[in-house]
Amino acid sequence: MRIKNDSFLIMRASQIKYLAVLLAAFVLCGTSMGLTHKVKESETFYAISKKYKVSLDSLMAHNGYKDARKLQVGKTLKIPSKSVKVAARVATAKPVAKSMRVILDAGHGGKDSGAVWGGVRESDLNLKVARLVEASLKSRGYRVTMIRRSDATVSLERRAQIANQHSNAIYVSIHFNADRNTGVRGVETFYVGNRGSYLAKSIQGGLSSSLKTRNRGYQYRSYSVLRNTACPAVLVECGFISNSYERSRCKTHAYQSAASRAIVSGIERYDRTY
Ligand SMILES: [Zn+2]
Repeated sequence: MRIKNDSFLIMRASQIKYLAVLLAAFVLCGTSMGLTHKVKESETFYAISKKYKVSLDSLMAHNGYKDARKLQVGKTLKIPSKSVKVAARVATAKPVAKSMRVILDAGHGGKDSGAVWGGVRESDLNLKVARLVEASLKSRGYRVTMIRRSDATVSLERRAQIANQHSNAIYVSIHFNADRNTGVRGVETFYVGNRGSYLAKSIQGGLSSSLKTRNRGYQYRSYSVLRNTACPAVLVECGFISNSYERSRCKTHAYQSAASRAIVSGIERYDRTY
């Protein structure tokens, strides 16, 4: 992969992550054994010096060249150490700002605790996962609007109203499930609208595999919070707290962060694809 500053700016988040890892490895290599570059067809000393932001003279001297025309294809050049710092700067660059906004709705809250089983309140779990999703999305350059950040009561109407203040947005409502039949477990995602179905599909796709629980699929469900939202809207059910085994997992930070990672990947997949 050729790394140019201008093309870097238009890369997507997944590519940036990949690039960051690549560059970090590059930097580690650079510190221990020196950065190198294998000369490709039609490359010149000048082009290579520009690429690594080092002077032509220092690049030639570093490799014992007096005549730039003697450069041969396939030759491995040692790059002066200054460019290692350049690579490090690129690796720690801020994420590219995304145009799409994500409205994150931690379901229930305040007077409405949602489902309560074995001392676990759904509204608390919803908020924990929503906050993890928020942090992760922000680190990837997404703008995020949180419906609530504390144990506050927010009506369903108000939730949709907040969402409808924004254009170019998606709405993701985060919940945990419960059922009288305590044997039921797994994850599922509900949606309204066409674009909502794409978003639900993208999120649900990785959810059950990363949480290692049953995949209950994604389906249309006319929940008022989804119906009254103008943008693509989904409601993610991250697991059944009525099932004692699943509840014991849902309570853990490991499960909550795995859920948040799956939701974030689904959002990114949707953003990339649709
Ligand atoms: Zn709920």
